[in-house]
Amino acid sequence: MQYSFEEHRIVGGNGADDEYWRGLERGVFQLPRCAGCRRWTWPAQFRCGQCGSWEFEWVPLEPNGIIFSWTRSFYAFDRVVERRADLPYVTVVTELPGADGARVIGVLKGDETGLRIGTAVRGTIDPPCEKSKWYPSIRWEIVRAEPG
Ligand SMILES: [Zn+2]
Repeated sequence: MQYSFEEHRIVGGNGADDEYWRGLERGVFQLPRCAGCRRWTWPAQFRCGQCGSWEFEWVPLEPNGIIFSWTRSFYAFDRVVERRADLPYVTVVTELPGADGARVIGVLKGDETGLRIGTAVRGTIDPPCEKSKWYPSIRWEIVRAEPG
């Protein structure tokens, strides 16, 4: 199966986040910022809740953040059965200081050492695959101190 954004919108989505997925597909992490009041808004919306503007710009940014929250999944729920082989796995809610604290969810990648609220993480974009239901996806990796 091949990923095709135009025929594969997120289930239940209203389309406000289409540019997010298009960006990931190109390897670009971007979030919407209101053109009126400059406030970052995530999850994406069609209208700014702060100033009422309908205009947003999608701004590429470095996926550097800190862990706001995390959870470990031990069960393959109906909508994520493709991840059964990875159980248990950790999902992270990352807060992005560079985007007014917007919070973006993704599966943890790599070593869990240091996993706790406040730990620095960096996002990498994984290409579409069966596990991600053929969506490109941001995954968060714990930032390690450079050796000596
Ligand atoms: Zn606004």
